[in-house]
Amino acid sequence: MFGTMLWKRWKKRLAGWKRLYLSKGAHLTLIKSTLSSLPTYYLSLFPLPVSIARWIEKIQRDFLWGGVGDEHKIHLVNWKQVCSPIAQGGLGIRNMLLFNKALLGKWLWRYVNEFDSLWRRVVDCKYGSQKRGWCSNQTRAPYGVSLWKYIRAGWESFAKHTTFKMGDGSRIKFWKDSWCGDQPLQTRFPELFRLACDPNATVDTHLRFHDATHVWDIEFYRPFQDWEVEMGVSFMELLYSLPIRRGTMDSMWWQPSTKGIFEVRSYYSVLVQPSGTYFPWKRVWNSKVPSRVAFFIWTAALGRILTTDNLRRRRILILDWCCMCQSDGESVNHLLLHCKVAQELWNMILNMFGVSWGMPRDVVDLLSCWSGNVGKGDAGVIWRAIPHCLMWCLWGERNARTFVDESRSLPDLKLHFLQSLSFWLKASRIVNPVSITDLIDLCCFCN
Ligand SMILES: [Zn+2]
Repeated sequence: MFGTMLWKRWKKRLAGWKRLYLSKGAHLTLIKSTLSSLPTYYLSLFPLPVSIARWIEKIQRDFLWGGVGDEHKIHLVNWKQVCSPIAQGGLGIRNMLLFNKALLGKWLWRYVNEFDSLWRRVVDCKYGSQKRGWCSNQTRAPYGVSLWKYIRAGWESFAKHTTFKMGDGSRIKFWKDSWCGDQPLQTRFPELFRLACDPNATVDTHLRFHDATHVWDIEFYRPFQDWEVEMGVSFMELLYSLPIRRGTMDSMWWQPSTKGIFEVRSYYSVLVQPSGTYFPWKRVWNSKVPSRVAFFIWTAALGRILTTDNLRRRRILILDWCCMCQSDGESVNHLLLHCKVAQELWNMILNMFGVSWGMPRDVVDLLSCWSGNVGKGDAGVIWRAIPHCLMWCLWGERNARTFVDESRSLPDLKLHFLQSLSFWLKASRIVNPVSITDLIDLCCFCN
């Protein structure tokens, strides 16, 4: 049912888009806005079957790389990378299965907090509630498919990101839950845990009140040995450092959010598991250059444009030869940075700005150290647009030589690059060079 509903709605929209000519930037925007948000309503209520998720991904992938219904286009970057956050070198497209899991996490959170609601009582009736009431019992019966059974299956993953805020202590396990510091006492003091008389006790069974003061009363099998005393002291210090809120209920704290309250967005971002690798995304997605160029730079930075080494890897082309310098083999970094022709263009620019520079190893390094702190003046704006424009012109020239057998001489290529740069700057409406000479005059940090 779920699949049919989606299919009908999508078919209509895709039919409309197919007829349009759209740039890469527009494709991306459409995937992010409409294709991803369309099923949100269903995804927040129903589990998404894996087969449907794969089907949605296929439509998104095909649409990103070539448009739906077209002949097969090469997918330059793998889907996992595409779905990772922009800051980690992805495009930030949602992974449907993980997004579904994050949305359904909302129900687990509501179960915890909506103590008296009717729906929770229905669930408890059917499956039975765990004694402390954070989640229903798990159903292991192999038969029957139910919505809650599926949602409940996500509890283990959900619970990893929660801790507890102690109120009366009746719903929190003293040793096994995270309520005092960011890990369970069992993990923090394993030696003392082994001596505990009641490893499954709740917090309130160890807490005594005398008027306004409170006392922690934990029973161990035997007195501490000399070497255990220091640990025992820090254990007690930790317990007494905790403020006691009498008259409140125990509550759950959602760790990924600063306010401790569940948010779908924060759950999704921990589920996609950011890789933590550095990617110069702010340079790549420079807003002052055309979006298709930024997209090209993104693929180049990931080393995925179709240079001959990459074509050979895909077994599409056998010859490894750079048509620009006609000597070396062609790789992304050779073509855009180290080739004789590329070097000529980079050196021209560096001379114009009076900057000396050793060429970095790869495109990511170049983008990372192409400093953005060169001021907000005209020279700074021009400087920041240069890597995109220069690599784009090299790529255009390489493709003209490869596919239509047309080539510019080196002086022509240099002029073409300066003209393109000038054109982009005019389009960005920040810098407006009236001529190439004017542009060259602006290329100096001393102005
Ligand atoms: Zn070359």
